[in-house]
Amino acid sequence: MTRRFALMGGAGAAAALSVPALLKAAPADVSPDVIIIGAGIFGAWTARRLQEMGRRVTLVDAWAPAHARASSGGESRMTRGAYGPDEVYTRMAWESLADWKALSDTAALPLFYETGVLFFFPRIEPYVEDSLRVHARLGLPTERLDNDALRRRFPMIDFEGVEAGLFEPRFGALMARRAVQTLVATFVADGGRYVQAEIAPPTGAGEGLGHIQTATGERLSAGHYVFACGPWLPKLFPALLGSRIFPTRQEVFFFAPEAGDERFRPGRLPGWADFNGGDIYYGFPDLEGRGFKIAHDAHGPPMDPDLGDRIPSAQALADVRAFMIRRFPALAGRPLSEARVCQYENSANGDLLIDFHPEMNNVLLVGAGSGHGFKHGPAVGRYAAALLTGRLARVEPRFSLASKGETEKREVH
Ligand SMILES: Cc1cc2nc3c(=O)[nH]c(=O)nc-3n(C[C@H](O)[C@H](O)[C@H](O)COP(=O)(O)OP(=O)(O)OC[C@H]3O[C@@H](n4cnc5c(N)ncnc54)[C@H](O)[C@@H]3O)c2cc1C
Repeated sequence: MTRRFALMGGAGAAAALSVPALLKAAPADVSPDVIIIGAGIFGAWTARRLQEMGRRVTLVDAWAPAHARASSGGESRMTRGAYGPDEVYTRMAWESLADWKALSDTAALPLFYETGVLFFFPRIEPYVEDSLRVHARLGLPTERLDNDALRRRFPMIDFEGVEAGLFEPRFGALMARRAVQTLVATFVADGGRYVQAEIAPPTGAGEGLGHIQTATGERLSAGHYVFACGPWLPKLFPALLGSRIFPTRQEVFFFAPEAGDERFRPGRLPGWADFNGGDIYYGFPDLEGRGFKIAHDAHGPPMDPDLGDRIPSAQALADVRAFMIRRFPALAGRPLSEARVCQYENSANGDLLIDFHPEMNNVLLVGAGSGHGFKHGPAVGRYAAALLTGRLARVEPRFSLASKGETEKREVH
């Protein structure tokens, strides 16, 4: 049994990550170089990267790594390289894939399934050509398929009205919650400290932040702070981010294929997205028996991550069912096996936020995953760690705070 497997334990990841176990494993006697607030995917990878660079790191979360309301708390997240002209995200996704595979190889249960990812389009649009051009330059093995080829390769999908597809054989599904839990467990096993505490909005201006305070009044201090609080970032920095990050309600559904129906299993059905003239639906094959996943990618209404209820709406269910009947007719009438309500934390155009606080120069803000951030976790962590340690002198303009608008106009897909 490997050390990591021993940490995960026979009772599984949930037991391994019980708060007492994590706290017990955590050395509290030395003050850290960096405190990271938020143990979602961005906070967890940033913690891991800094630890690999020899920094003492404390990771704090109000609830738990990838808890039920965190954006990283879902079952599965897609990783893919197609980003149209947005090469920066293709690079990050491709670079991150190697890290995901390496992490998955050391975990007790798979964190990555190489299902392949298929995007299809009613007509050949610039996104298709741009993606292919970027992928050719970066050496990604992406195939372009016409309608006949799509029908032959994926007979379980009705490609009526579809002109072209992009198939990325090397990408697939990340097991989201499990990946965050594995990462945090690995971080703790290697000497990192995890603390469960809600951090109050920090105050201070004109200089570095001296300390942060828990909701119960305990002070924690370090040289640097990373706030990777996902959809909670606007609550921690209301003046700065209240009008720059827009959490929206998103609903995800899982349907149970018939027993023995192999068509919707990984290996037959890839991860997929129908670009549908800009009104995107996406999903996954039946991973680990959780069901055929389907979601509408359109931004839902504003959502408070603390107060928003998680009851799936009849309207959203009817919407995905109607789409499913059209594109996956063999699943018509299959029962709903599970539904989840989560939130995207969108920037105005979908670009990530990784930049220093303008008034607290030892505070790094990391977030705005905007419905596509999970896959980039390893690259985000590396980038954030490089900024914090001075190995990177300049913030990528697209991740800068200055570039974050106050009017929603989604551009990154
Ligand atoms: C339905 C859905 C589908 C998605 N699909 C994909 C996909 O297919 N591919 C993809 O790449 N991405 C996808 N995403 C996006 C991706 O999941 C998110 O961008 C990513 O998980 C954001 O991670 P995060 O670490 O920024 O935030 P979170 O995971 O929300 O983590 C933030 C953490 O901060 C903690 N926190 C907040 N406030 C405090 C406080 N005051 N004190 C202490 N802790 C605090 C929270 O408890 C939480 O654990 C999807 C998102 C959703 C919701």
